[in-house]
Amino acid sequence: MADFTAKTDADGITTITWDVPGKSMNVLSLEGLAELGAAIDAALKDEAVKGVVITSGKDTFAGGMDLNLIAKMKDMVGDDPARGLFEGVMRMHGVLRKIERAGMDPKTLKGGKPIAAALPGTALGIGLELPLACHRIFAADNPSAKIGLPEIMVGIFPGGGGTTRLVRKLGAMAAAPFLLEGKLSDPKKAKSAGLIDEVVADPLAAARAWVLAAKDADLVKPWDAKGYKMPGGAPYHPAGFLTFVGASAMVHGKTMGVYPAAKALLSAVYEGALVPFDTALKIEARWFTNILLNPSSTAMIRSLFINKEALEKGANRPEAPDQRVKKLGILGAGMMGAGIALVSAQAGIEVVLIDAKQEAADRGRAYTATHFDKAIKRGKASEAKKAEVLARITATTDYAALSGVDMIIEAVFEDPKVKAEVTKAAEAAAGKDVIFATNTSTLPITELARASQNAEQFIGVHFFSPVEKMALVEIIRGKATGDRAVAKALDYVRQIRKTPIVVHDARFFYANRSIIPYINEGIRMLAEGVAPTLVENAAKLVGMPLGPLQLVDETSIDLGVKIAKATKAAMGDDYPDDAVDEVLFWMADQGRLGRKSNAGFYAYDDAGKRLGLWEGLAERYPVADAQPDLTEVQHRLLFVQVLEAVRAFEDGVLTDIREGDVGAILGWGFAPWSGGPFSWLDIIGAARAAAICDELTAAHGPRFACPDLLRRMAGQGARFYDLYGDGAAAA
Ligand code: NAD
Repeated sequence: MADFTAKTDADGITTITWDVPGKSMNVLSLEGLAELGAAIDAALKDEAVKGVVITSGKDTFAGGMDLNLIAKMKDMVGDDPARGLFEGVMRMHGVLRKIERAGMDPKTLKGGKPIAAALPGTALGIGLELPLACHRIFAADNPSAKIGLPEIMVGIFPGGGGTTRLVRKLGAMAAAPFLLEGKLSDPKKAKSAGLIDEVVADPLAAARAWVLAAKDADLVKPWDAKGYKMPGGAPYHPAGFLTFVGASAMVHGKTMGVYPAAKALLSAVYEGALVPFDTALKIEARWFTNILLNPSSTAMIRSLFINKEALEKGANRPEAPDQRVKKLGILGAGMMGAGIALVSAQAGIEVVLIDAKQEAADRGRAYTATHFDKAIKRGKASEAKKAEVLARITATTDYAALSGVDMIIEAVFEDPKVKAEVTKAAEAAAGKDVIFATNTSTLPITELARASQNAEQFIGVHFFSPVEKMALVEIIRGKATGDRAVAKALDYVRQIRKTPIVVHDARFFYANRSIIPYINEGIRMLAEGVAPTLVENAAKLVGMPLGPLQLVDETSIDLGVKIAKATKAAMGDDYPDDAVDEVLFWMADQGRLGRKSNAGFYAYDDAGKRLGLWEGLAERYPVADAQPDLTEVQHRLLFVQVLEAVRAFEDGVLTDIREGDVGAILGWGFAPWSGGPFSWLDIIGAARAAAICDELTAAHGPRFACPDLLRRMAGQGARFYDLYGDGAAAA
């Protein structure tokens, strides 16, 4: 069956319908592109055809290029991948440009056939680039439809002419949020921004009517007409000059230069603006090829699209009947419990929210009300929706209300005694089939399971804060946790539309195990006399969203102290972080607990605005005369994290590197451009990684010792994704 089918009616209008068999949303494949090209050729050649409408057989128009295909493309094009990719991209431009020119005489610009796009709903990526090549775009008045070019989010940029066309249509400044930030709009906003032309009740009918009435002049794009000037000015125009200087500074400020796609996009826009349209398309194609060949785009597509989706769809779900949650009990209505109640009720799940005092339970429920009030103010929710979601949350102190819940999530204080008490009480009220999940961030699941009537039904479901914003949920199998509990946790995470990883029980599980050493390394450097500005900026310049000192300010220094004390108690003489504790404990003694006390490694003003690094730091930890170079600081900050990830994989805590990479980016923001710790090691190569480990170990100690697995891989010239990319566990 074909992706595109064409039908010509009695009025001479050919309707080309895009409807990829077996997919809920259209995506463009190479075969699809060839079919579209052939359908356009046929319509242009057929004298009986007056014009064309391109639409979709689904309730959306299209989701974009098939990213699975993009990920594989550079391996499919033979010995000269740059040439093969460039030629492939140019073929796509060929089809779209044919639509745009529509058979008109290139000199007189007359004699073309009108081609309109009719979008029933969402149109993303190539799903908008194709309409942008048409002569007029009609979209259904469907407020839930999303229109835009989100390519930048997975490390590429609009390379199907979207970059060149949008800049020429709107000007560089107005196009910037759509191209550089992947901003999506509903149809009405897309129309007022100039992305599309019309929002109507019936786009197909409106497109047909337009095609029947269209004149030669209606088909000529501004950039194909004589005397075209780019809105806002081309680079050598005084206003255009300022735009481009500003855009360049903004992109570098936001991306720190680590996202190659943003830079390449800007180059394509700048260089393309200096030349005629068809040359600009070629320039866009060259930069797009450059990005497809950059290992960052491959890694980002793999982690942020392909593997993220595979995990969400249950790549690691054990066989078990449908375990979707109908009624959920939540113990503890504090920061985490309140957030979990919100996302669960939003997903249509009945929630019983329990706290020790009624006021605390009510406060937890009120969090949902406040969340909706803010959304209503921004026009993103309605009073009716708020009432509907709130009606699903019962706030109480009465454990009897847990009768009939099929899952419980415990989020009370991080104290094993309190947790044991509530576990017993809740299980007694809920009945014997209930799956009991704890949201602990530090306590071993296997220990906590002792309070349970059935350790097989006891599991860790670790959320990140703030719950409604953070996409990752870390599911932890205790020693005795059974498959049904894992399936239940995965089905629940799917219901609330988050991304799960499943790990085994070990100190700090996976995410915290890897991020705590990052914070500690930053603090350690400060104590050694490394300039804190160097530490913070080195982290950001390698793509970490927050420097380690800012991160500990955000999560709070007293939490750091608590974790350090507990870790030391557990590890005894092996404890490696006394140098870190000296700094942390001193900060806590000064009452500098981080953002929450308006004082931490950073200074804050009374309104809580972060000012700069606290000057008092330099008195206690003077900056040494000799400073390490930037790369060494970056290696220390990245290697402490990735080595922990490799050890977790070696230990079997992590059983799937895909989870290791996706979890690192979504859980703690590990340099997304790299695709995650394992992808990054593949990019630099195991041999180089092992050599850096050896240098760091010699200079800074055994925490940088090269794990055996990595050493072996260095010897074999092996890559993680070649050995374990299909989800295989470490041998
Ligand atoms: P919190 O102090 O904000 O909330 C805990 C709530 O539990 C309070 O409302 C308290 O009244 C209630 N509570 C205490 N004892 C109770 C009892 N016996 N019966 C019923 N309710 C009781 O804490 P939080 O930040 O929401 O953390 C809760 C859990 O989640 C902890 O285990 C923590 O380690 C874990 N966690 C926290 C974060 C985070 O960033 N804060 C992240 C992941 C996991």
